[in-house]
Amino acid sequence: MGSILTNIPAEAQITRIEYEGPRIALYTKNPKYLQQNNYIISEIVNSVKKRVVTRTEKSIRKPEHDAKPILDKLIPVEAGASNYFFDEAIGEVTIEANNPRLLSSDAGYDIGELMGQIGWKIKVRKAPHIASSAIQTMYYALRTGTDERERFYKELGEAIFRPRYTVAEQITVKSLGAGQEVGRSCLLVETSESKVLLDAGISPGARNSWDAYPRLDWADVQLNEIDAVILSHAHLDHMGFLPALFKFGYDGPVYCTEPTLPLMTLLQNDFIKIAHLEGGRVLYDQKDIRDLIQHTITLQYGTVTDVSPDIKLVLNNAGHILGSATVHLHIGEGVHNIVYTGDYKYGRTQLFDSASWNYPRVETLITECTYGAKEDIMPPREEVEMNFVNAINGTLAQGGKVLIPIPAVGRAQEIILVLDHYMRNKVLTEAPVFLEGMISEATAIHVSYAEYLSRELRSKILDQGINPFVSEYFTSIEHPSARDEAIKEGPAVIMATSGMLEGGPVLQYFEHIAPSDRNKILFVSYQVQGTLGRRVLDGSKQASLLGDNGKIKIVDVNASTQKVDGFSGHSDYNQIIRFIGKMRPKLQQVIVNHGDKRKIENLAYVIQRIYRIPALRPAVQEAIRLC
Ligand SMILES: [Zn+2]
Repeated sequence: MGSILTNIPAEAQITRIEYEGPRIALYTKNPKYLQQNNYIISEIVNSVKKRVVTRTEKSIRKPEHDAKPILDKLIPVEAGASNYFFDEAIGEVTIEANNPRLLSSDAGYDIGELMGQIGWKIKVRKAPHIASSAIQTMYYALRTGTDERERFYKELGEAIFRPRYTVAEQITVKSLGAGQEVGRSCLLVETSESKVLLDAGISPGARNSWDAYPRLDWADVQLNEIDAVILSHAHLDHMGFLPALFKFGYDGPVYCTEPTLPLMTLLQNDFIKIAHLEGGRVLYDQKDIRDLIQHTITLQYGTVTDVSPDIKLVLNNAGHILGSATVHLHIGEGVHNIVYTGDYKYGRTQLFDSASWNYPRVETLITECTYGAKEDIMPPREEVEMNFVNAINGTLAQGGKVLIPIPAVGRAQEIILVLDHYMRNKVLTEAPVFLEGMISEATAIHVSYAEYLSRELRSKILDQGINPFVSEYFTSIEHPSARDEAIKEGPAVIMATSGMLEGGPVLQYFEHIAPSDRNKILFVSYQVQGTLGRRVLDGSKQASLLGDNGKIKIVDVNASTQKVDGFSGHSDYNQIIRFIGKMRPKLQQVIVNHGDKRKIENLAYVIQRIYRIPALRPAVQEAIRLC
């Protein structure tokens, strides 16, 4: 690392160089200079081919209580700075601002000057429009973990940048979940040097623990042998097991995109809250979630990051939910490249640009297969929206209510935009729309990480200062006592979690709405086998719910049920096929997972027929040798 120093001008006042997890941190006493001459860092990155960040020397950092008034005074009022988070482990202040663009160099603002004044690095983010408890939890966990994190980053860096033991590469992928099924996504990638876990989810509909959690027991791996966990996105079937890893002794890094961290914090905390309420077994508690936050390293799309001596990682847009990523692993100086899609949408939606397909090289593609059957073809978008509008108009005209069970993250925000658009244009009957609190909070996180949204939304929120998610039609329900307003007489639309009627506030509404034939239960997302949502959709006339007293309550289902396809954040059949065809140079093989057995068989067959490449479909507890 010493050679880095030789090319840096003395004015930069570099005092030391240290590992900070997968990055190399240059400590400076003159952050202003390095910020204003940022070509210096770019040149170092190009020459060492590693991630490099600048950090301020601790001795120049003003204490928080002195730095705050300076920020208050120097930040222009128009920027609307509302909150500062001082992260001592890395010496960085996050400024939440209503107009973050005003503090960018594009707008002519000299952030280096501000850094020089307080002696801290500065990061600016859009302020969420309503307070997010998940973002506060994240800050709290980071703050209380300061000492631990400093030590962790150092040790992790030494492990990542250690010399290799061997030259030859052997690569095996073990299927620990989501093999010929949907739920508990988890793959173990083993190379000669490393063991990396891709996702660690739970199965929402599973009835016993053998089927609910990843089969790490079968993989014959100790948790302390795992070098890294890489998370594709913040859905429970991909990350619901992560805190349990920490509870059982894992203390290595978890890599994911920036918005994935607060989103998973929100959903995991909600998951244990619901489990407590329903008297179910809770796998982990808030302490384990804090542990996870303290070990999470967030990355932006497109940056190459070393995660072990022989694996480089790049996360790219997957178009599925906020911060969702495809995972590109470059193993052993060009020996093999894996792309794991996670859940992805190869097509544009209101919320996101289409999934990235342009990878420098891919030998093995691991694709999800939620919609892998021939009949899984989504209608064109306008048709989908009209089906949705008609489905609601009919019920509202009879004075009924429409209940939309929906996951808090992803489809909810898409539906919010669609409802608002069509009501505004009077195509959809105007009616009050009630959103359960967690949906509103998840939406606020979308606003705060707007640079991860589609180009149009990004520009609306960040450049024009318009918040497309707030509207006069919407009421957020923050407390159970406020639910009466939504349930009382009169037409309304209600959106509540969870999306498959497996627990959550949606069940309180379901109990009131399902018995009347004037009402409608409208599904807009995938319903996994074994869930109440699937049973209701398949025509079940009764549902058993757990009452407050712990007794089973039988609810008659007389309301009509309907599913509108096409809002999904997953690629449909055609999109999966087209995505695979885009890969250049030609793939060596495809591994198909995350789908019903029949769909996986179909997709694997079609891939072999069309592209003449082997398509494997491992069950859980099967291993595939890649090289
Ligand atoms: Zn997902």
